[in-house]
Amino acid sequence: MTDAAVVREDMGRTVTETHTTGVRGDSGPEVARLVASRVLDVPDFPKPGVMFKDLMPLFADGTAFREVIDGIIAYHGRDSFDAVVGIEARGFVLAAAVAYATGVGVVPVRKAGKLPRATHSASYALEYGEATLEVHQDAFTAGHRVLVLDDVLATGGTAEATLDLVERAGGTVAGFTVLMELGFLKGRERLAPRPVHALLTV
Ligand code: AMP
Repeated sequence: MTDAAVVREDMGRTVTETHTTGVRGDSGPEVARLVASRVLDVPDFPKPGVMFKDLMPLFADGTAFREVIDGIIAYHGRDSFDAVVGIEARGFVLAAAVAYATGVGVVPVRKAGKLPRATHSASYALEYGEATLEVHQDAFTAGHRVLVLDDVLATGGTAEATLDLVERAGGTVAGFTVLMELGFLKGRERLAPRPVHALLTV
């Protein structure tokens, strides 16, 4: 349920902030509201027709960021994973924080051509365009339980490719968390039966 949409100028760009009360997410309404309050909707970025969900205000707010990281760890349980994967680039921010807080290692899943050694690679379609993701072939100890993190789940192509890469590199997917899920794009259905943990679903 949308309460109010506030349109304002930010660095010369018009942004729309949406304030909601009837917000929902898999960790309950409180953290869902927190995420909703720290997202900026940026129309027509990176191309016309796309409503970009900018979560930088959440990352920039130390108290909110810590609450979100703690919420992710509490949801899964701190002993439920042996490694954390972050999807380039905003997933890196989340993965590093969860890894540090729980004492596990962090593994980057990167865009094509960025990793220096032998990789597995997977191509996928984005909401806007196409891309290839890669992970080092030796990224995981066999059977390691891996928690995968990203900022936004849209069509699910990025996540599907990443979960596939984790398994091809010898890991077991222990969970997949996003700060925000765009429910109308049905990424969750695409990933089924693998569970999705979204702090906020819109
Ligand atoms: P998808 O593969 O369609 O689920 O897209 C998810 C990936 O693209 C994530 O890494 C997001 O960071 C990014 N992304 C896709 N759509 C958006 C959006 N509307 N706002 C912000 N990021 C997005």
